[in-house]
Amino acid sequence: MTDEFTTEVYYDDDANRTYIDDKTVAVLGYGSQGHAHAQNLADSGVDVVVGLREDSSSRKAAAEDGLDVATPAEAAARADIVSMLVPDTVQPAVFEEIEGELEPGNTLQFAHGFNIHYNQIEPPENVDVTMIAPKSPGHLVRRNYENGEGTPGLLAVYQNVSDEAKEEALAYAHAIGCTRAGVIETSFREETETDLFGEQAVLCGGVTSLIKQGYETLVDAGYSPEMAYFECLNEMKLIVDLMYEGGLGEMWDSVSDTAEYGGLTKGDVIVDDHARENMERVLEGVQNGTFAREWIAENQAGRPSYTQLRQAEKNHDIERVGGRLRELFAWAQEESETEEKTEVTADD
Ligand code: NAD
Ligand code: MG
Repeated sequence: MTDEFTTEVYYDDDANRTYIDDKTVAVLGYGSQGHAHAQNLADSGVDVVVGLREDSSSRKAAAEDGLDVATPAEAAARADIVSMLVPDTVQPAVFEEIEGELEPGNTLQFAHGFNIHYNQIEPPENVDVTMIAPKSPGHLVRRNYENGEGTPGLLAVYQNVSDEAKEEALAYAHAIGCTRAGVIETSFREETETDLFGEQAVLCGGVTSLIKQGYETLVDAGYSPEMAYFECLNEMKLIVDLMYEGGLGEMWDSVSDTAEYGGLTKGDVIVDDHARENMERVLEGVQNGTFAREWIAENQAGRPSYTQLRQAEKNHDIERVGGRLRELFAWAQEESETEEKTEVTADD
C-alpha cells in the first residue's frame, strides 16, 4: 500500500466540451437518471432529444420540462450519442428498436455496465460504447447541477472506434456536471461487478439483513418494538452520516468510549468469517454470471420470486412499527420548526 492515489480523477479542466457541443444526444428513458441527464445536457447547451414510447407516461413530463420528445428509434436516428437510460431489464428490448438507427461512429452510452458486460446487448462493431455513471440517484444529479455543484461519476470505454470515445465521454460528464465533483475511470467489468457486489453484500442486502436480524433479536428477547426500531434502524443514519463525512475514524471519535470498545470487540463476532465466506460466494456468483442469469430468468418468468420477496419485506413487523414512529417524528419535527420560526419572528 502506498499513499499514491492510483486512479486518476478528472475535473472540469480535463474535459473539452467541443467533443459534445455540436452533437445531438438521444436520452432514452425519462426516469431517475434520464430526466437528470436530459435537463442538465440541455441547460449546458447540448442538443437533446428524449426517446420515449408513444404510450409512455413520462412523455408529458419531458415535454413540460421543455424537451423535444420522439420515439426511441426517431431519437436515435437524429442522434450522434444514444444514452441508454431505461431500466436495465428493459434495455435489450429498447436496443433492438434502435439498433438499426446507429450510424458508424455514433456512440452508445450507458450509466451501468450490466447489459454490455453480460452480453445482453451486443453493439455493432462500428460504434463507440462508453459509460458515464453518476454515483448518485438522478434527482441529486439534477439538483446538484442546478446548485452549481457536481455529482461524482465513473467513466468507462468499452469500444473506441472513433479514437475520441474517452474525450467525448468526458465532455458528456462535464455537461451533466460530473466533472465538477470528479470522475474516475473504470471498466464495464469492474463497474458492473463492484456495483452488484456492493448492493448485494453491503448496501441493500447486507444492511437490511443486519437491521432486521438486530431488530428481531431484541423483540424476541422481550424488548419493545419501538426501542428495537430506534436502535437498529433509525440510528443507522446517524452512524452512516458520520462515516460518510469523515470515514470510520470520525464515527469512532463521535460515539462514546463504551460504544467504541463494544463495537471494536463485537463487530467481527457478528460479521464473522462465515459472513466473509458468504461474501466471497456472492462475489463469485456476480463474477461467473450466475447472478445475472438468475435475474434475467426471473424477469423472463414474470418476476415470481421477486414479487413474493418484495411483499414479505413490506409485511415485516419493522415496517409497520417504523411507519407509525416516523409519522410521530415528522409531526414532532414540524412543530419544532414552527417554534423556531416563531422565535425568529419575535427577535425581529
Ligand atoms: P428508472 O427506472 O428511473 O427510469 C426508467 C425510465 O425508462 C422510465 O421513466 C420510462 O421513461 C422508461 N421506461 C420504463 N419502462 C419502460 C419500458 N418497458 N419500455 C421503454 N421505456 C421504459 O431508471 P434509472 O434508475 O434511471 O436507470 C437507468 C440507468 O441508469 C440504468 O442503467 C441504471 O442502472 C443506471 N443508474 C441508475 C442510478 C439510480 O440511482 N437510479 C444510478 C446510476 C446508474
Ligand atoms: Mg446500483
